[in-house]
Amino acid sequence: MLSTMQDVPLLISRILTHGSAIHGTSQVTTWTGEGAPHRRSYAEIGTRAAQLAHALREDLGVTGDDRVATLMWNNAEHVEAYFAIPSMGAVLHTLNLRLPPEQLAWIVNHAADKVVIANGSLLPLLAPLLPHLKTVEHVVVSGPGDRSLLANATAQVHEYEDLIAGKPTAYDWPDLDERQAAAMCYTSGTTGDPKGVVYSHRSIYLHSMQVNMAQSMGLTDEDTSLVVVPQFHVNAWGLPHATFMTGVNLLMPDRFLQPAPLAEMIETEKPTHAAAVPTIWQGLLAELTAKPRDVSSLTQVTIGGSACPPSLMEAFDNLGMRVCHAWGMTETSPLGTIARPPAHAVGTDAELGYRLTQGRFPAGVEARLTGPGGERLPWDGESAGELEVRGPWIAGAYYNGPDGEPLRPADKFSEDGWLKTGDVGTISPDGFLTLTDRAKDVIKSGGEWISSVELENALMSHPEVAEAAVVAVPDDKWGERPLATVVLKEGSTADFASLRAFLAEEGKVAKWQLPERWTIVEAVPKTSVGKFDKKKIREAHRLGKLD
Ligand code: ADP
Repeated sequence: MLSTMQDVPLLISRILTHGSAIHGTSQVTTWTGEGAPHRRSYAEIGTRAAQLAHALREDLGVTGDDRVATLMWNNAEHVEAYFAIPSMGAVLHTLNLRLPPEQLAWIVNHAADKVVIANGSLLPLLAPLLPHLKTVEHVVVSGPGDRSLLANATAQVHEYEDLIAGKPTAYDWPDLDERQAAAMCYTSGTTGDPKGVVYSHRSIYLHSMQVNMAQSMGLTDEDTSLVVVPQFHVNAWGLPHATFMTGVNLLMPDRFLQPAPLAEMIETEKPTHAAAVPTIWQGLLAELTAKPRDVSSLTQVTIGGSACPPSLMEAFDNLGMRVCHAWGMTETSPLGTIARPPAHAVGTDAELGYRLTQGRFPAGVEARLTGPGGERLPWDGESAGELEVRGPWIAGAYYNGPDGEPLRPADKFSEDGWLKTGDVGTISPDGFLTLTDRAKDVIKSGGEWISSVELENALMSHPEVAEAAVVAVPDDKWGERPLATVVLKEGSTADFASLRAFLAEEGKVAKWQLPERWTIVEAVPKTSVGKFDKKKIREAHRLGKLD
C-alpha cells in the first residue's frame, strides 16, 4: 500500500525559498580585511541567487546538468552560487583552491565544468590554468583582484555584478527529481587520486536537517556561525544549507584565515559558534595566548576533519569555548558522527571521555566494523576494525570512471554497497565511535599495531609541543616503527630524551610503542584542507630529508 502523503521532492530550492522568506532578516556577513565587513540579508541572497540563475541560463547558456564550478573563498557570493546553481537544475562543483594546479586542472576536466565562478583574488591561480581547462567556456569574476591576468583568456570573461545586474529577482525554480545531482566535491586526495563525490538534492536536504538537530550542531536564529571550514571542503560541513533552514547568521572569513584576523572577527562580530579542523584552532590558540582578546561570545566550537587532541579540547574548554568533536568524510556529506555525550554522563567524570570520542552515529548513519578477514566485529568498545557506513547522505559510488559509469572501487565500497571508510576504530555498546587511526597511517610494528593518533595526542599534551605528527617508517627488525615529527613552542628547551621520558611517564604510552626516531621541524606539512600531510612526511623521510 502506498502512503497518502504528498510526494514533495526534497530540493535545495525549497531550502533557499524557505530561508530567504522565513528568515529574510538573517545575515551573511563577509570579512573584508579592511573597513566594515560586508553584510547581506538572507532575503537579498534569495533575490541575488535568482538573478545569478537567470544570468547563467540566459547569458551563459547553462542548461540541464551542466557543471558550474566555484573557485572561491567563504563569502556571500559563494553562498549565492551554492543555492542558485543546484536550484536551477545545474551542478555546483566546488574547487579546492589549495590543490596543486595540475590536480585542479585534472578535476575540472574530469567534471567537464562549463563555467568557473572565481574570486578576483584567485585569478593568479586560475589564469595560468585556463589554457588547460578543456571544457570551460565562461569565467565569472567576483570581488577584488587583477582582471588583466585574464587578458589572453580564450574563455569569455564576465563580471559577477554586471552579469546579475538588472536580472529578474525571482526565478521559477524547476521541480526536479530529488535524486538528481546537486553538487560535487572531489576528495582532497590525502590518500590517492581525487575522486568525485556527487551529492543529490535529497542527500543535502536530509543532511542539513541532521546538522540542525539538537544532538548535532543544534543552532538557532539566535546564533551566528563563523564558518572557517572552506565551502570547497565538503560543502563547509553542510553549514550554508543547514543555516538557511533555521536562520542562523553566517560569518564568512573570505580569504582572511590567519589566526590574527580570525581572532579579530570573533572579538568584533561575536559569533556564538565556529567550525574548522584542529590545525586552525591550534593556530588561534597560540594567537590568543600571545594576545588575549574577548572571545567570550564563542561558546560552541565544532572540530572535525582529523582527531581533536585532548590538550586542544582542554585549552578551549578553559577559554569557555566548548568543543564538540565530529567525524566525517567527503563521502559522508560529511556528518558521520558527533560527540554529544549521553544524558547520563553529563556532569559526571565520564563526560570528557565521551566528548573525546569521534561521537555517536545519528539516525541516518548505519555503521559496522569489519575485521581483517571480513568478519563483523562487535560493538564492545574494544574490538578494532575498519568502519563501514551506509545511509541516505553517504556516497554509494564515485563520479564516472573512464567508461562513463560510476566508479565503485572494491577498497572503497563493499559488495553489498557500504562505504569502506579506511578508518580503523572501535564502537561502544551505546554507539560511540573511537578512531585509532586511518588504516593507511597505522604503524605495524612486529605484528602489533601502534596508533599514530594516540602518540600525537600524547605528545601534544606536552606543554612545550605546538604540533606533533607521527608516521610509520620502514624498520629492518620490526617492519615499521614510529617517527615523531615535532614542532616546539617558541623558547622551548625540550629535547628528544625529555619528550620520550614524558611519553613514558605514568604509562601515557606503552614502552614498546615509544618512538626511537625523532625529528624537530619548523612546521608539520599540511594537506589542502589543513590536515597533517603524512604522505609528505613519509616521502621526506624516504628521501633522507628528516633524519
Ligand atoms: P581526505 O580523505 O582527502 O583527507 P576528507 O576530508 O574526506 O578528505 O577526510 C576524511 C577523513 O578525515 C576521514 O576518513 C578520517 O580519516 C579523517 N577524519 C575526519 N574527522 C575526523 C575525526 N574527528 N577524527 C579523526 N579523523 C577524522
